[in-house]
Amino acid sequence: MIIKPKVRGFVCITAHPDGCEKNVLDHIETTKKGVSLTDGPKKVLVIGSSTGYGLSSRITAAFGSGAATIGVYFERPPANNKPASPGWYNARSFDNIATKSGLYSESINGDAFSDEVRQKTIDLILQDLKSVDLVIYSLASPRRTIPSTKETFKSVLKPIGSPFSGKTLNTDKNEIHHIAIDPASEDEIEATKKVMGGEDWELWIEALSNQGCLSKGCKTVAYSYIGPEVTWPIYKNGTIGKAKEHLDISQKRIQNLLESIDGNAWVSVNKAVITQASSAIPVVPLYLSALIKIMKKKGIEEGCIEQINRLFTTSLYAESEPILDSEGRIRVDDWEMREDVQNEIKEIWPKLSTDTLYSLTDYDIYQTEFLKLFGFNHKDIDYSKDVAIN
Ligand code: NAD
Repeated sequence: MIIKPKVRGFVCITAHPDGCEKNVLDHIETTKKGVSLTDGPKKVLVIGSSTGYGLSSRITAAFGSGAATIGVYFERPPANNKPASPGWYNARSFDNIATKSGLYSESINGDAFSDEVRQKTIDLILQDLKSVDLVIYSLASPRRTIPSTKETFKSVLKPIGSPFSGKTLNTDKNEIHHIAIDPASEDEIEATKKVMGGEDWELWIEALSNQGCLSKGCKTVAYSYIGPEVTWPIYKNGTIGKAKEHLDISQKRIQNLLESIDGNAWVSVNKAVITQASSAIPVVPLYLSALIKIMKKKGIEEGCIEQINRLFTTSLYAESEPILDSEGRIRVDDWEMREDVQNEIKEIWPKLSTDTLYSLTDYDIYQTEFLKLFGFNHKDIDYSKDVAIN
């Protein structure tokens, strides 16, 4: 079929298989050029491996270090004449390319919060790899069902304590307008922590450890975000920020658990990048459009793959121990948070309006890169051609 982008709010409901493959190939190329680890990871589990930071982690481990990888993700396959979700195509492309390159690559498509998927993954590790030396936890999910009680928690993106009122970008209408969001209830805060906090990361590491799947010296990393003050009411000081605080608590508990195998658990605070998860957060697309322009001008702009390449080479597998902040976290958001970058954000923020959107920010790049997540906007792909969706 001929597949065109169909954008609905902050998602595109179609995806192009060839374009998704091209994304994976491009990221592999970037990694091959920039990363060549001799003492890097060899057997890697990535939870949330089909898009965004998780896919970049899988690519970096495989093509920057020759690692065997198992990926876990939750993606929609093609059905009823509808294309699959982009992550489904990405994962299939990754498996094909890695296997052709002589790398072990297996994927499990299912709910990572379920006992079945966790056990299936552990069985696969025991059968094929025996153990893993790196576990990346990169889930971004709107909900989590607890297997024992069948209770479903939904995460919300809301401020805490007082209402938020501020600028945001309507990416459907290409307009900047004000939004007002009421503060979250206690239940909503707790639900967001259940979904996006560290509890499930702990469950994974405990289960992997109990069943002897972690190699001596195993490392595990989960991803976090802090960002600038303009996003704090909705991010750092909001419900998602509370979940990220919980991730820090889990990191300490997992570190204790890993002491006996000389392992390490870290939270890595990463840069804001365009992904399906970040495009759903109010204020963030506008901030990203401004940030990209500033960081590009300074020659320090990075996407997911550049961030994770840098995380592996300068922190996780560098010759010296990773440099940590006062809270014990790795900071690859250091360039984003540089004073000169953030001063420019502060300077232009009050001037941002629908009229100045394209002149003061790189919103056109944001739009191009957003559609690329779904396999569109590649110059060398002929989108008028018929393509098989499965
Ligand atoms: P993403 O939406 O691109 O990827 C989410 C991944 O989780 C996908 O592979 C998806 O299939 C998987 N997933 C979702 N629900 C699942 C489930 N129930 N079972 C199995 N897999 C499931 O997200 P992302 O932006 O790469 O975010 C990943 C992590 O990085 C998150 O913790 C996020 O907070 C963090 N982070 C993101 C940014 C950013 O700007 N995007 C910045 C810093 C940190």
